[in-house]
Formats: sequence, C-alpha cells, structure tokens
Amino acid sequence: MSNLEGKKALITGAGSGIGRASALDMAANGASVMCADIDAQAAEGTAALIDDAGGKADALGLDVSNEADVKAALDNTATRLGGLNVIFNNAGVGGGHGWDGTIAVNLSGVYYGLLHGAPMLASAGGGSIINTASVAGLVGLTGPAVIDPEEIESGAGAYVAAKHGVSGLTKQYAVSFGPHGVRVNAIAPGYIETPMTAEFRSEELAKEYITNLHPIGRLGQPEEIATVASFLASDAASFVNGVVLPVDGGYTAR
Ligand code: NAP
Repeated sequence: MSNLEGKKALITGAGSGIGRASALDMAANGASVMCADIDAQAAEGTAALIDDAGGKADALGLDVSNEADVKAALDNTATRLGGLNVIFNNAGVGGGHGWDGTIAVNLSGVYYGLLHGAPMLASAGGGSIINTASVAGLVGLTGPAVIDPEEIESGAGAYVAAKHGVSGLTKQYAVSFGPHGVRVNAIAPGYIETPMTAEFRSEELAKEYITNLHPIGRLGQPEEIATVASFLASDAASFVNGVVLPVDGGYTAR
C-alpha cells in the first residue's frame, strides 16, 4: 500500500486496463482521482467502481492527441478536484494505427501532458508525473510478426519509436522540473493482460512466444503496474526522479 491521502490525480486511459487498475489502486490508497479516457463512458465506469468502493472520483472524456483537450483536462481536474498533484500520462494504442496515429497518441499525447502539466504542478508547489512507456521504450520488439520489414514500417517501428520517445521525455522533464519540485518517472511494462493484448493472447503459439520472453514465466496483470504507479505517485518515492522503471517480470534483464 502507498499512502496517497490528500493527493489529487489525473489518469489518462483510465477507462480500461492499466489506467483503470491504477485509478482503482490510487483511490484505494486515498487519492481523489479524475478518470480520463477517449471513451468517456468507460472513464465514468471506472469512476463508478471507485465510488462503489467508497473512494473519491470524477470522470471526463479527452483525446490525448489533441493538445487543447489535454490542457482542458488538466485545468478541469484542478478545478473539480480542488487541486492537482499527480498526473499519470498512460493512454496509448497498440498496433494497427500506422506511424502518424501511433506517434500522435503514444508520444505527442504524453508530451502534451508534460508540456502543460509540469509547469502546473511546479506552480502549485510540486508533484509527481508518471508516464507509461513499455519494454518497447527500452529495447526493440521481437517475434515472428515484428521482424517482417513491412510490419516494422507500419506498426512495431512506430510503437518502439514512440515509447523510446516517452523514455527520453521522462528523463528531460525530470532534469528540467526536478528543481521545481516535480518528479517525472516512467513505467516500462512487459506484456500485460489487458484488452490491448487480447488478440495476441487469443492465439496459442503467440501467447506461448510472448510468455517465454518473461523470465518470470507468465504475463503481467494490470494491478501489478498499478501498485508501482501508486508508489511513484506517493511521497515514499520522494527521491525517485528520471527513472524508466521496467515492471516486466525480467523481460529486459537479458
Ligand atoms: P487498454 O486496455 O487498451 O487501455 C488503453 C485506454 O486508453 C483505453 O481505454 C483506450 O480507449 C484509451 N485511449 C486510446 N487512445 C486514446 C486517446 N487518444 N486519448 C485518450 N484515451 C485513449 O491498454 P493498456 O494495456 O491498459 O495500455 C495502457 C498503456 O500501457 C498504453 O500506453 C500502452 O502502450 C502501455 N503498455 C501496455 C502494455 C500491455 O502489454 N498491455 C505493455 C507495455 C505498455 P479505447 O479502448 O477506446 O481505444
């Protein structure tokens, strides 16, 4: 458990998977949480789950690839929750969105959260920003599908470039905003059992292949990312800044 009493957090991609699990975990740890997603109904669904569990939550719709949406979401969160201390730039898309679509959501979406969020937290006395990178933000992807050169152009290349960009932005913002009391870190998940990986996991051979990439011998659960996000959001991580933390069952250890 991480103590997040009194913290106010904005989480993007909170309608599903890692974002939903993190919203639930941060709320259970005492934070007020703004659940934000391109699917506003799904974000409301997460907020309702938090309400049912006795936590504090609100919801809004946003498209993180739209800079004005991100800025408005930050402003709305501060107004509706009465402040903002934690920003989790988590929303993202998997394969099949091409170069422009993938970069727009997975890299520009995180950039807008940092561009507008970091100065906001700094002027409010500090805070914690967490970005969702990936093992693909640390190493190239592997597997029969992604070593096909055409697939690199259309899918894996864009995803890896965007996630490496998230790792770089995390370090730069940590350096630039550390002196202003804002810690900026990223989580680099291995393969996690969320809707994003459902198609992969439905094919026996593909599932076995990706499972074997994780020395721990299984895929991860969204809750195993959520607890790490809560830790990075908390004051227990007060000296953790500029880290891209693998939470990957050992995927990047070899
Ligand atoms: P998920 O279950 O698909 O959740 C992602 C959420 O983000 C969905 O609700 C999605 O809405 C939303 N979203 C997509 N585009 C958006 C946009 N432009 N603006 C706002 N919200 C948007 O996937 P997940 O596995 O939890 O992924 C969360 C993050 O973890 C992503 O950044 C992903 O790249 C990263 N990640 C995942 C894994 C994994 O194995 N699952 C591994 C490493 C990193 P829709 O469903 O309506 O599109």
